[in-house]
Amino acid sequence: MSKKILVWFRNDLRLHDNEMLVEAIAKSDSILPVYIFDDRLFGLTDYRTLKTGNIRAQFILESVVSLRNSLKLIGGNLLIARGKPEDIIPQLVQEYDINEVYHHREVAEEETKISSLVENGLWKFRINLKHFIGHTLYNKEDLPFPIKDIPDVFNQFKKKVERDAIIKPCFLAPDRVNVAEVIDWGNMPVLNDFELIAPVQDARSEFEFTGGEAAGLSHLQKTIVAIQQASAKKYILASKLSAWLAMGCLSPRKVYWEIKKIESIPNAKGTFSQILLGLLWRDYFRFMFKKHGNVFFKAEGFSDQAVSFAENHDLNFENWKNGRTGEAVVDAVMTELNQTGFISNLARQTVALYLINTLKVSWVLGAAYFEEKLIDYNPASNWGNWANIAGVGNDQKTKSVFDLDKNIKNIDPKGEYALIWAS
Ligand code: FAD
Repeated sequence: MSKKILVWFRNDLRLHDNEMLVEAIAKSDSILPVYIFDDRLFGLTDYRTLKTGNIRAQFILESVVSLRNSLKLIGGNLLIARGKPEDIIPQLVQEYDINEVYHHREVAEEETKISSLVENGLWKFRINLKHFIGHTLYNKEDLPFPIKDIPDVFNQFKKKVERDAIIKPCFLAPDRVNVAEVIDWGNMPVLNDFELIAPVQDARSEFEFTGGEAAGLSHLQKTIVAIQQASAKKYILASKLSAWLAMGCLSPRKVYWEIKKIESIPNAKGTFSQILLGLLWRDYFRFMFKKHGNVFFKAEGFSDQAVSFAENHDLNFENWKNGRTGEAVVDAVMTELNQTGFISNLARQTVALYLINTLKVSWVLGAAYFEEKLIDYNPASNWGNWANIAGVGNDQKTKSVFDLDKNIKNIDPKGEYALIWAS
């Protein structure tokens, strides 16, 4: 009897460096690649914000189309469905005589809960859900400590990992795939199906974010050329790779190994170190989510101190969201976020500090708003960074490094940025 493996794509929308896909192809006669649009991802949060705003939703749609096209180019396709994975996957398993299901493990509660529901649904048919780990630069097994012993202080984590762990090479992208015989591979939904309207590009931004592996790889190559051409003093400050990393259109290892190739060019060293530092922060928050779980979503976080909020808390939050606080740089950053879905790390820190310390609004509202708006949202990076800025994260030392006034000056030393993004 021929062996069929269902490959359930989630935030891993790529062919390159995809162990799950490589192994599924190697261990089966044919695979059934599947992507499921789960309406829960497009619903409301507990804070009355959207789980996915229109800019990221558009990016996700583009990324799924791109994956389908890439699979078609190597003889395959991608089955597209809409509904709950825990309902759909067991149905597909029966319909297509599937022997095993593969997927990538996530770290945040909502995602892992869905995996457990799928796992339970599959057990009824004695079918195994195999978990892969493919979202981080360092594999969990290659860390010099078990998850429970990972240092909570970022600098200790970084030091030990850089000294004692290895970064594995990338898996090659498959060049051929056999897929199950499917009559209807399913249609792509449109934004309107999720009650979202198409985003309009703001003329003030050079919007560079098209979803998908091909666009991500092309952006990576452009970044590498820019690094090579940059002068020694003015290295690239932000790679803007985060959206592709968040959807798994790019693997962090791919980014690392590609940029490492040019590390020896004198002018590239600074950018290489900065991107590597970012990737380490990204790994750190994922591992911290694995270690501590849900604490990151709670307002009190790891702290036992009560926080008081402003009387006009709700109004302050509304003004912040809409870029109407009266602080020009904060308002400009929020306008840029609302219009483009992307702001720099410094800008994120600045508006977060302003919301928490000046407007005295609960940080969880800010985090939920970022969840809606950011094109590169991922739970661990977003909620982990917010909790640290609020001083309720697991690395309490990070709070002291934030300085609102200094940040504002650094974002807009000449007052030009605030003028451009005045709403
Ligand atoms: P680069 O500086 O070029 O770094 C390379 C990569 O490293 C990034 O693409 C990103 O994947 C990762 N990275 C860099 N800095 C961080 C960091 N501090 N924490 C985690 N990963 C990092 N990043 C997200 O990807 N998704 C989020 O939802 C998110 N929410 C944030 C919320 C707040 C309040 C703050 C302060 C930061 C948040 N970040 C988030 C981290 C960071 O701001 C972005 O990753 C970064 O600005 C993306 O720009 P870049 O690709 O040019 O980064």
